[in-house]
Amino acid sequence: MKLHEYQSKDLLARFGVTVPGGDVTSDPAEAKAIADRYNGKVVVKAQVLMGGRGKAGGVKLFNDSSEAAAFTKELIGKRLISIQNPDGMIVEKVLIAEQIDIAEEYYVSVLLDRAAGNLVVMLSSEGGMEIEEVAEKTPEKIIRIPVDPAWGLEAFQVRAAVAESGINKIAQGQMVKMILQLVKAYQETDADLIEINPCALTPEGKLLAADAKVSIDENALFRYPEYASAMEDGADDPIEAEAAKLGIAYVRLGGDIGVIGNGAGLVMCSLDEVNAAGGRPANFLDVGGGAKAERVKTCVELVMKDPNVKGLLINIFGGITRGDEVAKGIMEALEQLKLTIPVVARVEGTAAEEALAILKTSSIVGATTMQEAAGKIVELAYK
Ligand code: GDP
Ligand code: MN
Repeated sequence: MKLHEYQSKDLLARFGVTVPGGDVTSDPAEAKAIADRYNGKVVVKAQVLMGGRGKAGGVKLFNDSSEAAAFTKELIGKRLISIQNPDGMIVEKVLIAEQIDIAEEYYVSVLLDRAAGNLVVMLSSEGGMEIEEVAEKTPEKIIRIPVDPAWGLEAFQVRAAVAESGINKIAQGQMVKMILQLVKAYQETDADLIEINPCALTPEGKLLAADAKVSIDENALFRYPEYASAMEDGADDPIEAEAAKLGIAYVRLGGDIGVIGNGAGLVMCSLDEVNAAGGRPANFLDVGGGAKAERVKTCVELVMKDPNVKGLLINIFGGITRGDEVAKGIMEALEQLKLTIPVVARVEGTAAEEALAILKTSSIVGATTMQEAAGKIVELAYK
C-alpha cells in the first residue's frame, strides 16, 4: 500500500530523516496560513499516488502566500494526468512544503532484491529525473549496496559505497546517516519500498528528503495501528477502503454482478461460475466464517455501493455459518436498501432448509447448485 508523500515524510521523520517542514490541507485559506509560516517561500505539491507529479503540473514553487493559496484552489478537485498514470488522479489534498534551495539532487531507495533474497539500497548522484532513465543511459551512476539478511548493514559498508557514488563530499556523511535510517525504517515498518527522489543538497550543505515515497506491506498493517488512517487514504477505491475499515475482504472487479459468499475459495468459484455463465462479476466479497445476520447485511450494503451492480448472487455453504442467519441478513438488507435488482441465493449446509423457508417469503430466487445460481442471476440481470 502506497503512502502519500506527506505520510511518507512523517514516517521517515520518526526515524530521524531530515525532511523540509510543511503541512497538508485541502483548504486554500489554510494553505495561505501554512505558507505564511515560511514567508510565502513554499512548494505546493499535489498529494496523489502517482509518479511524475512535477511534469503533470502538480508541483509548483512560490514566493508569495496568496499565489500559493490560489494554486491550491486550482489544484483541489483537478485531475492530474502523467505518463505513468494516463487515467489520472483527482487531487484531494496538497502539501504546502517549505521551499528549499537545491544545489544538487540525488536518488536513494531501499527495496527488495528478490533474485538475491535480500534488501538492496540504490544510490545515485543523478537524482531528480526518473531513475529508469538513469539506469538505461548511465547505469554506472547507480550504486547498489546489498543488505545482508543476517548481519544487516554496517556503517563502513555504506561509507565505502557512498564515497564511490559521486555525490558531493560535504554531503557524504549525512548520506551515510540517512541510508542507515532508511534501512531501519524499512525493516521496522514492514515497508516494501522507500524512495527519496530527489534527496536534495542545499547550497549551505544540508541534505534533505525533498520528496518521499513509502509503500508498506498491507498484510502487516495491523501491526501499525498508527498508520490505519493512512490506509483509508491510500486505498485507490473508496469501497475497498470502507471494506478495509470494516475488516471485510472485498475487491472491486469492474463488472456488474455483485457476488457474496463465505470462504475465499467458494467466492472465487462463484466468480468463475458467473464468468462461465456469461456474466461479469462486480466484486469479490468473503463474509468470513460464522457470519451473523448483521454482518451479512453490512456486506450486501457494501456491494450495493457500486452503482454498476445490477444483479446479486449470494453463495453460502453453511458450516459454522448458519444459513438462516445469512437469509435474515439478506432480508434485512433488501428491506432497508429497498433493492429492486434481482437477487439469487444458493444456500447449502447448516440450516439451509430454514434459510430457504425465510427466503421464500421474498422476491429472492433460490437455487440448489452454484452453476444453477450463476445461470439464473446472469439471465435475470441481463434480461
Ligand atoms: P514528483 O515529480 O512526483 O517526483 O515530485 P517531486 O517532489 O520530486 O518534485 C518534482 C521536482 O520539483 C523535484 O525534482 C525538484 O526539482 C522540484 N522541487 C520539489 N521541491 C522543491 C523545493 O523545495 N525546492 C526546489 N528548488 N525545487 C523543488
Ligand atoms: Mn520525486
